[in-house]
Amino acid sequence: MTLPDRVEDPVQPNDEADILFCTVHPTVETMLRCNRCGRPMCAKCAIRTPVGYRCKECVREQQDRFFDAQMLDYFMAIGISLVMSFFAAVIIARFSFFFLIPIFLSPAAGTAIGSVIWSMTKKRRGRYTAYVVGAGVVMGALPVLPASPLMVGIYLVLATGAAVARFRLNL
Ligand SMILES: [Zn+2]
Ligand SMILES: [Zn+2]
Repeated sequence: MTLPDRVEDPVQPNDEADILFCTVHPTVETMLRCNRCGRPMCAKCAIRTPVGYRCKECVREQQDRFFDAQMLDYFMAIGISLVMSFFAAVIIARFSFFFLIPIFLSPAAGTAIGSVIWSMTKKRRGRYTAYVVGAGVVMGALPVLPASPLMVGIYLVLATGAAVARFRLNL
């Protein structure tokens, strides 16, 4: 025994006499059905989506799934920026004899970190990705700070700024 497949028809006004009542508002007559779960819903309950009219619950369920995927992207963004920033700071700390090197290398490193995460999170980039990347760049470099406070300090400012700008400027 299989359940009927209800995806076939989005919003089909019902010419016949079988009047539907909204699932949430049982006194409200309607001709709309959610095109995902098939429940009758009134105009107030219906939400227009790119794939047709849907009920609030179905929309929320999909937003939750999107949110989970976005969380995963945030974790990925923090992981990548931590690791990349750590190694960039290690390299820069080694050149502590010449301060021009961090001034040139740091923005490049920051842009590189931002670009990697920018392209990896293309599909579901969240509103906070820039902050997450900024935090990752700072935290990744902090363990290296005592090795060369001045050089890594320059790096912290320039690399973080460049990484975040990668997101802000939508390059
Ligand atoms: Zn539904
Ligand atoms: Zn309703």
